[in-house]
Amino acid sequence: MIWKTMSNNLVLRILSSSVNISAKAGSIVRDVMKTGELAVVDKGVNDLQTEADRRAQNCIITSLSKQFPKIAIIGEETLDPNDKIDDKWIVSSFDESVLSHKCPEEWLNVTDEDIVVWVDPLDGTSEYTQGLLDHVTVLIGLSVKGRAIGGVIHQPFYNFDKENDSTKLGRTIWGLVGLGAYGFQHRQPPVGKVIVTTTRSHSSPTINAAIEHINPDEVIRVGGAGHKVLLVIEGQAHAYVFPSRGCKKWDTCAPEAVLESLGGRLTDVFGNQLRYDRNVEHTNELGVLATHCARTSHPYFLAKFSDDIKASLLSSSQMKRNN
Ligand code: AMP
Ligand code: MG
Ligand code: MG
Repeated sequence: MIWKTMSNNLVLRILSSSVNISAKAGSIVRDVMKTGELAVVDKGVNDLQTEADRRAQNCIITSLSKQFPKIAIIGEETLDPNDKIDDKWIVSSFDESVLSHKCPEEWLNVTDEDIVVWVDPLDGTSEYTQGLLDHVTVLIGLSVKGRAIGGVIHQPFYNFDKENDSTKLGRTIWGLVGLGAYGFQHRQPPVGKVIVTTTRSHSSPTINAAIEHINPDEVIRVGGAGHKVLLVIEGQAHAYVFPSRGCKKWDTCAPEAVLESLGGRLTDVFGNQLRYDRNVEHTNELGVLATHCARTSHPYFLAKFSDDIKASLLSSSQMKRNN
């Protein structure tokens, strides 16, 4: 296998920069919470934006586009171009531990034109506003030729409930398909039990029917796509089940890449790979299924989605297309 040192490899440089940028965005998210002035804006039904979402996205997009002016970057929030961007939010450093890795051969010749970076500056906004702080993540996903291959999941409030003041607040997990994932302890979920995680703030009768059909031993209802995939890779759940529309490409790109780098899988409920090309529809219309093992768990959970559930997703996607 041919390896190349990483200091000049585009994929590793973007991930390395994103690791440091995500930590800065996380500190912005914590700072806004400390002020208590969230300045919430309603973007739609059950869809909020706070000052933290806006500032963190400005930090991420401004920093990344300064370092990588030729790549496409798509962020969740529509921002006011007149927003003031504090110089302190601009990150130009690289995480050395990422750069110390060798890039898998398949990503050695990636060019700027191949790349779309998907940014969710604050995943789990609803939970953030309710003080469920460990549900919150900052997501930076790297796609190449429409496929999620690299991801950074920063959890700004990790350890926030620990009593010991010296415990470090926040952590950053990153992964690259073909290389693996770092910054956490990869664990397998328990054998002989079925544990699923799903939404707590965007539930629906279809989601509940699907979960009833799976008949799991335990259901963990928490916020954020990033947080739920963390539960899967840390062995607390076998699957993240969301047979509904609403979850977007910026929610799934980074989690999908991290999960797949560890042998897990994230697809729609039909088992189709999600696409991340720059002109793609932002909503994951046919739902999301993420599991800890591509070989065993994924087919097991895919088989649990009934024809009725699949038909209801297809018809809502069709209706959307006709409107
Ligand atoms: P949840 O599991 O409910 O936290 O959702 C995961 C991600 O998908 C979050 O970023 C949500 O904002 C988004 N999402 C899921 N369902 C909806 C919906 N019905 N409307 C808007 N956003 C949604
Ligand atoms: Mg989100
Ligand atoms: Mg968000």
